[in-house]
Amino acid sequence: MKNGLIFHDGRKTNVCFPEWNRAQSLFVFQWKKTSFQAILPYVKIFDKLTESGIRIEDDFEMGKLTSLRTGGCADYIAFPENAGQIADILSLCHDSGIPVTVTGGLTNCLVSDEGIRGMVICTRHIKGLVMKGGLFIAYAGESLENVINKSIEHNLTGLEELGGIPGTAGGATWGNAGANGVSISTFFFYADYMTADGKLKRMPSFCDAFSYRKSPFSKGDVILSTAFRLKADRNSAVAREKKEYYKEERRRKGQYDALSAGCFFRNPPALSAGSLIEQAGMKGFEHGGAMVSTRHANFIINKGNASSRDIFELSELVQNAVEKKFGITLEREVSLLGKFQ
Ligand SMILES: Cc1cc2nc3c(=O)[nH]c(=O)nc-3n(C[C@H](O)[C@H](O)[C@H](O)COP(=O)(O)OP(=O)(O)OC[C@H]3O[C@@H](n4cnc5c(N)ncnc54)[C@H](O)[C@@H]3O)c2cc1C
Repeated sequence: MKNGLIFHDGRKTNVCFPEWNRAQSLFVFQWKKTSFQAILPYVKIFDKLTESGIRIEDDFEMGKLTSLRTGGCADYIAFPENAGQIADILSLCHDSGIPVTVTGGLTNCLVSDEGIRGMVICTRHIKGLVMKGGLFIAYAGESLENVINKSIEHNLTGLEELGGIPGTAGGATWGNAGANGVSISTFFFYADYMTADGKLKRMPSFCDAFSYRKSPFSKGDVILSTAFRLKADRNSAVAREKKEYYKEERRRKGQYDALSAGCFFRNPPALSAGSLIEQAGMKGFEHGGAMVSTRHANFIINKGNASSRDIFELSELVQNAVEKKFGITLEREVSLLGKFQ
């Protein structure tokens, strides 16, 4: 560590680097019991990553990025722009034992009010769309919306049923996003990804590897790009209309009118989670600043001043009510990031 001054203000351990510019000069640690030894790996990594040109911020308020607009601070967040930068982040964190959390558009996540310890990798700047031998390849940070639009421009169709789903191609692949009878797995051919220790791998399409809102990737894998095998279609104007129709339907149903993360729970086999929640009397139920949507009972919304705890506790109340009435345990579709229990 170069000329770092360490001081403790009673709440946090701070390290100040006088030779750095103002934006970088304060290195804030939220862990009350942080020792000098414990923060050293972080200082080294922060230094190395910024030197190699990766945008990285500390003490970053995640609520600025989540679709629910809730969530506390990440110790660090990195915004890599290519696979090489992701490899650098992963190998440095892996070697130093720093936990890594992968995110895309954060439209299907609930981030703890206490934030996320370690490093968050935000993949939304990994951009690119490539046509290759009949395949349409989308880099992880492309919005699903753009992937659909551009594939249609290239007279390739199939993804239009997913029109209006927010978030990135990487997040959609991770969660096997779906709507109107189609999901990512319908057209998935392969995905390139990196394992938590920075190894580059390719996930081929196995017929049984994806299931409803689930993909075969392991926690910590970072999806870099997804190759889709789409249908060649000279009359792609019809697909464009279809896509706009599905998006308009969502708008008409009020899906974009409130802050949400989409469906909070997975549908149990052959059942609708929304319908179970409604029949359990929870539609419109409020808890703190959170509410079960009056338009779609499987949406939990932030009325404006909700905390992540409000949303989490409301989801537990919903689970309890459905369990009591039907004996069915609803499984969360939304990813929980950070500590909740
Ligand atoms: C209004 C609204 C409507 C929605 N409608 C639908 C719908 O109809 N169908 C549907 O399936 N979903 C729907 N969603 C949920 C959400 O938009 C999708 O699940 C979306 O695909 C999530 O993408 P994301 O980039 O935001 O992922 P995030 O929310 O950032 O992450 C979701 C999960 O994927 C992981 N992840 C993200 N990116 C990567 C990556 N590059 N590599 C590895 N793991 C990664 C994260 O760790 C996390 O576990 C809706 C959400 C909203 C707000």
